[in-house]
Order: sequence, then structure tokens, then C-alpha cells
Amino acid sequence: MNLFELLAGEDNDLALVTPEGRSLTYKQLRENIVELVSQLNSFGLTRGKRIAIAMTNGSPMAITFLAAALCGTAAPLNPKYKQDEFAFYYEDTQANALITLSEEPEAAIAAVTPYMMLINAKVNTDGTLSFELVKTASKPAESSNSAAPNADDLAMILHTSGTTSRPKRVPIRHRNLIASANNIIGAYSLTADDITLCLMPLFHIHGLVGCLLATLASGGTLICPNGFNALEFWKLVDTYKPTWYSAAPTMHQTILARASRNTEIVKANRFRFIRSSSAPLAPIIIEQLEATLNAPVLESYSMTEASHLMTTNPLPPKVRKPGTVGYGFGVEVGIMDSEGNLLSQGNLGEVVVKAPNVIDGYENNPEANATAFVNGWFRTGDQGTLDADGYLRLTGRIKELINRGGEKISPLEVDDVLLRHPTVAEALAFAVPHKSLGEDIHAAVVLKGEVSEKELLAYCSTMLADFKVPKQIHILDQLPRGATGKLQRLAMAKLLNIA
Ligand code: ATP
Ligand code: MG
Repeated sequence: MNLFELLAGEDNDLALVTPEGRSLTYKQLRENIVELVSQLNSFGLTRGKRIAIAMTNGSPMAITFLAAALCGTAAPLNPKYKQDEFAFYYEDTQANALITLSEEPEAAIAAVTPYMMLINAKVNTDGTLSFELVKTASKPAESSNSAAPNADDLAMILHTSGTTSRPKRVPIRHRNLIASANNIIGAYSLTADDITLCLMPLFHIHGLVGCLLATLASGGTLICPNGFNALEFWKLVDTYKPTWYSAAPTMHQTILARASRNTEIVKANRFRFIRSSSAPLAPIIIEQLEATLNAPVLESYSMTEASHLMTTNPLPPKVRKPGTVGYGFGVEVGIMDSEGNLLSQGNLGEVVVKAPNVIDGYENNPEANATAFVNGWFRTGDQGTLDADGYLRLTGRIKELINRGGEKISPLEVDDVLLRHPTVAEALAFAVPHKSLGEDIHAAVVLKGEVSEKELLAYCSTMLADFKVPKQIHILDQLPRGATGKLQRLAMAKLLNIA
């Protein structure tokens, strides 16, 4: 089986809708993909060739991704990268071609090497795409296997977000993506009647699998705007009546902040559920979202190496436990100590997973593989515990935990306490080097009202054991985030010149 066979919609059902009015039925989508794969084959791109894509979100990006993954291996990239970053990713993925839309972005095109071909995608009046070969590669393509891929073939190369280290290259097979999409459908009971609002970038696993593939594999419709914008969000909800959306925590906070200006839309539209993934969602934000939007918020735990979904809180009437990321769906979850022994329920250790959606290994990275894969389990780098019902509570990334003179502090707990203060909009606790303790704890906040550092410190003292109270709280205009919206906890001390 491959991604083409995963597309589940009836011919006349809508597959992709772009707000500028370009909509594609499943029939149009299937026919267009077949045509585009044959165009790519005619340019000399076949199985094994790596096809970089730099496009803003929208149905053209979604169609191009599917065509590239069904011809060779797709390598979706953030269209906002600078030229040097594109050059790095082309080299790292060994890209044979780049596909862009309307000859943009310039930085991506400028970085194309003589060994790569350049392809321009054009949107036809009916919303389908055509490819045009703009520049050939100086070396002709060698392989000529244009047969359809099978389950074991590589569908895409994606990089991890680079939150804790240099982004790692993750090779993902058709079977990994199919397993993940099916787990998502099962977890949220997605059907052909569902309408998904795609807010996540399609160069990240959350958007590609959690929004695009899960929707197409259930025969549903994906509303695919150019990107996330809090103003536009409420208009899209009003127009398309999505049944659910999936987003990273920062987006939920932005949506929440504008909800009071859109009370009519909030009242008129009831999501079947709202999903959060990619980073920790503080329980206080879940409470506020559920109270304001009147829909269950399902927090889920995901990563690139697992082709997205690992665990999730379930739909009602099953129990949601805020502060946990739910339990495994098609994924076995365990807790392991540093020696590779599995720990029993209730013990704190590294979260490990085993599932058909987890990759076989990183590409050309034997050191990373040796540490990440132990006795058939994949080590996630995250720390947590499993409760008696199998719900996973994450306490942070192992690299981000704060060790204050031997006292281990989960920065997530401190973030949550700060976020419970009525004037705090965003919070991030982090380690700073300390002469005798090794590490001390500081925090940074963005405010939505008036409060002094002293008042915040006093408040923390009433909520946290002394050793967890930040030594200093920095009041900032904004917190640093990576390309996929993740807070850069490990970079904080350096950014504030305290490292
Ligand atoms: P890198 O591996 O390069 O440091 P990254 O781990 O941020 O980057 P991704 O694969 O995009 O790259 O993210 C996976 C990580 O995101 C998980 O290991 C976990 O730390 C975090 N994460 C995802 N969902 C959640 C969640 N619901 N709660 C807490 N953390 C989460
Ligand atoms: Mg990671």
C-alpha cells in the first residue's frame, strides 16, 4: 500500500478547499496526482530521487507533497528559510530537485545547485496543478524505476524541529505514514463527514500527517489556508464550519485571546473536538479553551520520528486527564531507566515507544541510532510517568530538566504555575548556570496586565516548594520560538546573556 491508496474519499466529495475558492474533489485530486507523477517521471525523477518542496501552505503544497512522495521521496521545507538554510537542507537531504510555486521563494531558488533541477508549479483555473521544468540538472538522473512505490519505500525526509540539538534527518516510509494516519482516524473517530481546518505548516509532521493525511485517509475535507492568522481563523470557522482543528499550544492561546471579539461565531459553531499537539499545553489553557469554545480539548503527544501521533487524550465519554497526554493509540508506550530497563507503573523515567509508525532509524547517523533504539524501543528524549490507567504524564524533555544542586525541577510545572497568574500570558522557566548549584532556575514571562517581578516571585513562593521558585523572573515582550512555534527553552540563558 502507498499514500495514493490511502486517499479514501468518494470521487465527488471535496478533498481540498483553499479559501481563495480553489477546491478539488477526490476525483480531481487523484487524476491530478497521476498526471503530476508522470510529469515528474518525464523530467527524469523516479523512485529514490529526493524532491525538495518550498511552498507556503495551501492546496498546491498539499498536492505537490503527495505527487513528490508518490514519484520519489518528498522533502518539504519551510518556505521562510534563508538561502544558506536552503543550501544546508538541499545538501543534507541530497535533493535532486526543487519544486516551488510561481517561482517563489527567491531564497530557495537562489540556493539551487547545478546538480538539482528546478520545477515550477502552476495553478490551473480549476485548482489543479501543472509542473514546468525551469532548469535541468547538470548530471542526468540515473535510476529509471518509475513504478508506484510500495509500503517499504521512503515517502519523505523530514527534519526534527531542532529544539534540543541540530535538526536530525528522519526518513519516513509509506507504511509509517499510513499507520500514523490510521491511528489518528481511530483515535478521533474521523469520518468522511469531518471538515478539518489546517492551521499547521505542511513542512512539519503535525500538518502533514495530523491534518492532511489523516483527513484524506478518512475521506474528509481539508480547509487549507495560507497559514495561521488569528483574525482569519474566526472568519474561516464562520465560512466553512470545520468540525475540528489541530494546533500547537501557542496558536490555541492566540485563538483564545480573540474569542471574546467573535462571540457570535463561537456560539454558532460547535467543534466536535479541538486537538493540541507538538508542545506542552498547560492545564489552565485547556480549562479556558473548553470553557470558551465549548468543545473537548484533546491533548496529544507527537514527534517526527513517530510520523506524528504517539498518545492522545480520548474523545468523550472516555476520560480526558488534563496534565497528561492520554494513552497510546496503536502505539506501545513504556518508561525506561538510563540502563535500558523498563520501569513499572508510577516510576519516572524516559518515555519509550514501539509502533509501526516509528521510523526504522535515522539516516546515516549511527551514533543517534545507537542511543535512540534500545531492545526494539525508541527513546523519545522526554521524561514522564504512566498512571494506573496507562495515561502518560510528561514532565519535560530530559535535556531541558533543571538540576538545581541535585534537586530535579520540571520546568513545565513552573510554567503552569506562572500561567495561572491572571496577568501572565506566556511563561517559560529555564536553567541558568550557577557556580555552586550547577544550575539555577529563572523564568521569563510575557504579560497581559500590570504586575511587578517582586509580586510574581511572591506568588510563586505561595504555589511552589522553595527550591522550585525562580531566582529571577524576566519580563519580556515576547518569547523565542522555533520555526514550528516551539519555545526555545535551552536558548534562553544565552539569549538573556546569563550563560
Ligand atoms: P529536536 O528533536 O531536533 O530537538 P523536536 O523534538 O522539537 O526537535 P519534533 O519532532 O517536532 O522535534 O517534536 C517532538 C517533541 O515535541 C517531543 O519529543 C516532545 O518533547 C514535544 N511534544 C510533542 N507533543 C507534546 C505534548 N503534547 N506535550 C509535551 N511535549 C510535546
Ligand atoms: Mg526530538
